[in-house]
Amino acid sequence: MTDYLKPLPKSDPVTAPFWESLHRGKVQVQCCGDCKIFVFYPRALCPACGSRKLAWTPVSGKGHIYSLTIVAPGRGPDIFKNDSPYVVTLVELDEGCRMMSNIVDVDAEDVKIGMAVEIVYDCVTEDVTLPKFRPVIPSKTSPHL
Ligand SMILES: [Zn+2]
Repeated sequence: MTDYLKPLPKSDPVTAPFWESLHRGKVQVQCCGDCKIFVFYPRALCPACGSRKLAWTPVSGKGHIYSLTIVAPGRGPDIFKNDSPYVVTLVELDEGCRMMSNIVDVDAEDVKIGMAVEIVYDCVTEDVTLPKFRPVIPSKTSPHL
């Protein structure tokens, strides 16, 4: 694995179960035991009802693009300039919470709000796996053909 020079997340006792789930290739987020909403980013209290009963729960890793911005070629911090253009997005998971990420495996100008996406586990170091998303390609075999 090559040296990864970009900023890395810092795991702490609250966020560790999220990062560990990515490392295992099975994303999980918190779900409130009282009001039943899914919560992301990880935290100690439910943002809707204040409950402390947040349980780590596996989720599908599927969702849609809620919002996006395209970082134009040559723009952004120096360490990311070779990646531009790239897409910074807010993905709304099917479970209802939103996750900031990047869209991969597609040209930036082809990414649209509402596009169906699925998680990709990007193992950037031995210890860190980042959640990224790619478009869900509709099946070419349709029962209606
Ligand atoms: Zn709640």
